[in-house]
Amino acid sequence: MIYFDNAATTPIFKEALEAYDEVSLNDFGNSESNHAVGHNASRLLERARRDILVSLGLEKTHELVFTSGATESNNLGLKGAALRYKNRGMKLITSNIEHPSVTRPLKQLADLLGFDLVILPIGNDGTISPDTLAKAMDKDVSLVSIMAVNNETGAANDIGALGKIVHQYPKAIFHVDATQAMGKWVFPYSSADLMSFSGHKFGGPKGTGALVYKKNLSFVSINAGGEQENGFRAGTVNVPGMVSMSKALNLSLSRQQYNEKNASSMYEELYSFLKEMPEQVELNSAPLSLSQSPFVLNFSLKKKKASVVVEALSNEGIYVSSVSACSSHEAQRSYVVLAYGKSEEDAENSIRVSFSIENTMEELKRFETSFAGIIKEINDR
Ligand code: PMP
Repeated sequence: MIYFDNAATTPIFKEALEAYDEVSLNDFGNSESNHAVGHNASRLLERARRDILVSLGLEKTHELVFTSGATESNNLGLKGAALRYKNRGMKLITSNIEHPSVTRPLKQLADLLGFDLVILPIGNDGTISPDTLAKAMDKDVSLVSIMAVNNETGAANDIGALGKIVHQYPKAIFHVDATQAMGKWVFPYSSADLMSFSGHKFGGPKGTGALVYKKNLSFVSINAGGEQENGFRAGTVNVPGMVSMSKALNLSLSRQQYNEKNASSMYEELYSFLKEMPEQVELNSAPLSLSQSPFVLNFSLKKKKASVVVEALSNEGIYVSSVSACSSHEAQRSYVVLAYGKSEEDAENSIRVSFSIENTMEELKRFETSFAGIIKEINDR
């Protein structure tokens, strides 16, 4: 099997699975229980929390709430902060290529509670330019949410520069959806006041995630109930999951440089391979640069259905995606590709190849051979 759909999810690392099993079997207590089994679970949970903050260099400035994943973290961070700080201003800003777990909570805030939502357009390279954000900012803005790396195209925003602009307005909070960056793409994490991610995107287990928040920030809890997680997220905590996620993040970050180099050579190889087929393919992702992650490459097929090619690849044991997994039940067209100013046809026929830290150049060469064969076979029909 050649698995190039790692932006949808990754296989769990063996070490992370072992950590999960170990805690589930031996330290299975409820981290809130007031006895030794509970205390052990609580100690492991706090160590995992600290390890994550330390590995991101945020232990002095930020805290962390464990969640079930980025969708929950985005909802908690955005709704929770908007509600908590609504007296600061009713204007919310985001971009037009955010994940639905960012845009939908923001739209709910606008539709149900009267917030004013401003959606900024991306530029040609798929990123939000600091100028565009600067022009939209004013003293009524309480919250800005911009993703670190886009899940469909790999476009990477300059979070440091965007954060500086937001922080010229002391009442504004900067939320970053870091789901596709964590463990893969380094950015100045401390620029974010709120940051969301999911464990299963970097070799951790599904159903794990976190919302990192700047010390002294507060938000309204969305899951109200018990006092777990400082009262910000009620419910018994998935201790084995969080220990396992922390292990996976640590492994990813410790191999970061090698991983990025490996992904970059595969990205460059695939980019030039596709560029040689201008009659068949329109590239949507940008050439590698400071604003393009090497882990996600997106292109559209000309006069061919992406779903047919993705299925043909799948029949050969090669897995890529035609529309992001989160939106594949909706209209079969990519709102992200449309936001690049591409045609409806391009948006309907886009293909995403997303690498993990475990993919190899040999796998990529096999993909290229199969892809070229499938395109030829369709052309010859
Ligand atoms: N944000 C981004 C950028 C994503 O890619 C995803 C997952 N596709 C999410 C948020 C939501 O993550 P999850 O489904 O793990 O909650």
